[in-house]
Formats: sequence, C-alpha cells, structure tokens
Amino acid sequence: MSKELSDSYRDPTLAGQLVRWIAKISRKKIRLMEVCGTHTVSIFRSGIRSLLPDTISLVSGPGCPVCVTDPGDIDAFLALARMEGVTVATFGDLMRVPGSQGSLLELKSEGRDIRVVYSPLDALAVARENPDRKVVFLGVGFETTAPTVAAAVSQALQEGLANFFIYSAHKLVPPALAAISKNPDLRIDGFLLPGHVSVIIGSGAYRPFVETSRCPAVVAGFEPVDLLQAIGMLVSQIEAGEARLENAYKRAVSEKGNQAAQMLLENTFQVTDAPWRGLGVIPKSGLALKPEYAGFDAGKVLPLCVPASESPAGCRCGEVLIGKITPPDCPLFGTACTPVKPVGPCMVSSEGTCAAFHRYGGAS
Ligand code: SF4
Repeated sequence: MSKELSDSYRDPTLAGQLVRWIAKISRKKIRLMEVCGTHTVSIFRSGIRSLLPDTISLVSGPGCPVCVTDPGDIDAFLALARMEGVTVATFGDLMRVPGSQGSLLELKSEGRDIRVVYSPLDALAVARENPDRKVVFLGVGFETTAPTVAAAVSQALQEGLANFFIYSAHKLVPPALAAISKNPDLRIDGFLLPGHVSVIIGSGAYRPFVETSRCPAVVAGFEPVDLLQAIGMLVSQIEAGEARLENAYKRAVSEKGNQAAQMLLENTFQVTDAPWRGLGVIPKSGLALKPEYAGFDAGKVLPLCVPASESPAGCRCGEVLIGKITPPDCPLFGTACTPVKPVGPCMVSSEGTCAAFHRYGGAS
C-alpha cells in the first residue's frame, strides 16, 4: 500500500466524521468483539475505545494464536524440546509462554537446542544443515500461517528430508466464532472479523456462520478509519435489526480469498477437533497433517509423552480470551503478572489482550 493511501486510512478528519456518525446512529447498549490480536493492538494504539459512545463496548476475543494454544500443546512443545536428539524450531513469540514446567526460553538457557525462526522454510534449512538431528517446527497460528507450513512440508517431501517434522496446533477461526456466539453468557452482538485471516479464506467463508448464528459480522482492516467504518457498519446493522456479513476491507479481502493458499491447506491438512485455551475442544476447528504426510507428524513419529497440563495458577487468560472478563479483572494483572514477568500467554504475546491493556492502559 502506498504511503498516501495508508495515510488516508489514518486521516483524523475522516476518523472524526465516522466517530460522529457512530454516535448519531447508536442507541442500544451493545457488545462488539474484535477477533484478531492485531485489531486489539490497533484499537488500543489509536484510542478508539475512548472515542466511542458509552453504548458501545468493545471486547477482545481469541485472536492471538499463541494465547489460544492449549496448555497441553504448550507442554508438548516443552516435552519435544527436552527429547535427546531433537531440535525445536519456533516463532519467537512462543519462547516465553509458560507451560506446566517452565518455558522454551528456560529450556534454551539450560542448553536445549531451540531455534527461533522467522518462517517454516527457515526450519527446513535447519533440518538440511543438521541431518543428525530431528528438527521439529512448532505449528501455531490461524489460516494465515498454516499455508506456509504446508509449503514447507511439501518442500521437505520433494527433497526427501527425513529429519523434518511438524507439530500442528493450527486453528481455524470460523468454528471459534460459532462457539462464542452460542455462549449466552458472553452476549456478543456483532463481530469485527480478522483482516489477515480473511485475506486467505475470503469473506464468503463466514457466510455459513452468519446465516446460522444470525449474528452481524464485518471484515475489518487495521487502520483507524478501517476499524471505525467496520464498527459503524455493525452498529448500523444492529440498530436496524439486521444480521448480515459485510466486508469493510475490500482493498485486501475478496469473497473467495487466496485460492492457491487454500489449495495448499487442503492438500496437506485435514480438519480436526482441536482444544483451545478458554474455549475447550471445538469441533472441526484445527488442522492435522493428512495421513499421507504422517511421516512428518512429530506427534505420531516421536515418542512424545506429555504430563497432565494445567494453566498457570491464578491466571484467568481463558476468560480474557472469550471476553468474559477484562485483564484488570484478573488479580494478577500489573502486579504478579507484567510483560517483564508474565504469568499467562495473554501477557507474553505482543498481540495478547493483557499485554495491550498493560501497554496502552485500559481506559484508552
Ligand atoms: Fe493471565 Fe496475566 Fe492476563 Fe491474569 S493478567 S489473565 S495472569 S496473562
């Protein structure tokens, strides 16, 4: 995107007009959920919460992939890192996430071979350079990151790399939306849909969810004007008693999405039930390697033994992730749990709601 174009989506005059429009049309008390960690950070950074009328509450949802990774998967990552002959390759944001017994960062400081990589293809390079090691890439993320993991598996197959493995904890967004919308305690009146995920799956992928749940939903971009426009479209629908799928991010998101990326996913993964922190097991919400790729599946090939897992004592990330409480409602927020010494994943990740509240202040 050119600088002129991106500046136009940060234009304070346009943002002010949208804020006044929203204030004019908003009458009912409503709760809107942003389902993307990058949206959460952008909303805090631009102070959007403080600009909206009191009738509108914005709550953060399960949009940070590291945060929603189940404690059992975090402990599986630690168990892999402790195995003799295994090198773990991971994105950096997993390093400080606490498991039942420590974190990857702690294990690295004890001498375990854990590499921070920027792409699954970097992990493939580690496997090529270290044929005597079993290299496991920790697959955490939504539909956005899973295609690059699929491409790495396909490349490993072509090269005949026998020491490259994936632990797939990938998650799918639409089933999580369905689970949240069915929970009467959460009372979500509309969803701001994640821009990055939507680029891959296309806006049309949410249509079955909107038609079944009768919950308004708008795909949103990341600049202040994008977000205010999407919030206004949601308020407009809710005030009119409508429940439609709309796209406020058409410059990046099409109806059908990125079909090449979808094809990669379909060829490599199969949809499976998956455990989410805060939401439990959601049917058909995860991605597992297809049987023909079982030789790359760390969970099937390596003798993985994971002890029973628990969330960190006192941590209420599970409730934060579904918008049931806000971070300051957690007794550990800002005292025992800070970005320097995080207790739960929502304070570790840069996209975590607790980290965003701590950094930008709950009032903004
Ligand atoms: Fe968990 Fe810390 Fe957030 Fe509390 S403040 S929910 S302990 S991450």
